[in-house]
Amino acid sequence: MDTTNRVAPTAKTPALILEPDEYSMAKAVLSLHQGLLVAFPTETVYGLGADACDEKAVASIFAAKGRPSHNPLIIHVKDLATAQRYGHFDELALKLAEHFWPGPLTLVVPRLEGAGLSPLVSAGLATIALRGPANKVARLLLEGFEGPVAAPSANRSGLLSPTEAEHVEEMLGDQVSLILDDGACERGIESTIIGFERGSAIVLRSGSLPVEQIEAVSGIKMQAADTASSPDKITAPGQLSSHYAPNAQLRLEATSAGEEELMLAFGPDAPKGRPGVNLSPTGDLVEAATNLYAYLHLLDDTGVETIAVMPIPDKGLGVAINDRLRRAAALRPDDEE
Ligand code: AMP
Ligand code: MG
Repeated sequence: MDTTNRVAPTAKTPALILEPDEYSMAKAVLSLHQGLLVAFPTETVYGLGADACDEKAVASIFAAKGRPSHNPLIIHVKDLATAQRYGHFDELALKLAEHFWPGPLTLVVPRLEGAGLSPLVSAGLATIALRGPANKVARLLLEGFEGPVAAPSANRSGLLSPTEAEHVEEMLGDQVSLILDDGACERGIESTIIGFERGSAIVLRSGSLPVEQIEAVSGIKMQAADTASSPDKITAPGQLSSHYAPNAQLRLEATSAGEEELMLAFGPDAPKGRPGVNLSPTGDLVEAATNLYAYLHLLDDTGVETIAVMPIPDKGLGVAINDRLRRAAALRPDDEE
């Protein structure tokens, strides 16, 4: 067969990177319908989207990321009514969705069978993770597509999450058909994931929405995942000890940086005279969360071996920042992602 004039498969051609406008949004919606991968911004990090009802498209997310198939994906929806077509929301889940959506909160609820979702999307679990994101471009995409969009973070599995279109291009540029470039993500750290178990709520992953806010609205204390009582307790594989990792090693709780190190500083008391960057010179945790991945990408791109990280207060968004830093600093056994 003569193959000289055949076009290479779309998944291996470099991604189109387009700013959101009528043309690019229509193209993105069409690409999802065609079973292709579309990277899009959310208020947390960039997502790698595919039609959640298309088994092949969902499989290509796992392949593109190199993600183990036992790690389920978050399904993005335009609103709560759409979410309820796929998952069962009890009173508490309803209350949280009504209050915090659109926003950086993912709810893990029982999966409704026969609704058309790809089985792969939830890795064979009886639950699914649903989220209604707030970012305007994400919302336009979900409204245009109408159906559910499976979208994990648009990075290679185990590596740093992308908060800018360039990060997606670096890691997955030859795997996606289109990257919608909306600049830097507003929050910069992943969504908070909450699961439910017999009337109580469990923090499966700390994230952009501080747990204190969820407790204030629900009126109940959230349990940490590792203290949940039941033997069939829900686990989020994203809790793998090594995750969100740069190439460089991280040295945590550093008060100064050595000759060979670069500093990831925080707050007004950062030591002077060492090269590095400050997550927030004023000590603002929201600003620090927004900058976290972008600054780790920046330091990592220098090829430095070790990044010295100053202590971050463990409250509010600091809880999610410290969680990511601990995982980024963890030993990386070969069998993890
Ligand atoms: P990412 O898509 O990269 O933001 O990661 C999604 C996170 O959601 C991972 O930590 C998954 O393990 C978690 N997740 C997705 N679906 C479920 C589920 N049904 N039960 C528990 N965790 C889930
Ligand atoms: Mg991720």
